[in-house]
Amino acid sequence: MQLSKLEAALNNYLNNGERKLTHQRRAILAVFVNADAHVTVEDLYIMTQQQYPNIGIATVYRTVKLLCECGLASGFKHSDGAFRYELEKEHHNHLMCIKCGRLIEDTDAEVEVLQNKLARKNKFKILHTRIEAYGICHTCLKSDHKDSRGRFRRVSI
Ligand SMILES: [Zn+2]
Ligand SMILES: [Zn+2]
Repeated sequence: MQLSKLEAALNNYLNNGERKLTHQRRAILAVFVNADAHVTVEDLYIMTQQQYPNIGIATVYRTVKLLCECGLASGFKHSDGAFRYELEKEHHNHLMCIKCGRLIEDTDAEVEVLQNKLARKNKFKILHTRIEAYGICHTCLKSDHKDSRGRFRRVSI
């Protein structure tokens, strides 16, 4: 989503609760939009500091929480152990390698069909879903197959 659209959505959410889109919140949102897809609060804080040295980590944390609360961002536990956040974009799933930390984003229409079926069956309105799969990526699987002399061996998972 574009920054202007995100700002408008956040502003709308805040105004309903009679709160304001402060310039600090606006600044953090702008940094988030330009950041890597999956960032920790610390990452965002460090990036924010470069342009806005007066913004503290607590403000960054609260803003990220606010963005999650209104559905503009979401958090997940990465295979590297860190809690990371991303701004909402089209529905996708995460496949995360526990060996190298690689994160693959993928979309599968069949997953969505199943989710819709689940929602209908339970008369439930789903707002957000994502498969967070932890495992071993294709590159690590390949290197796992070879021992130090380059011979193939069985993978133990
Ligand atoms: Zn890997
Ligand atoms: Zn993602």
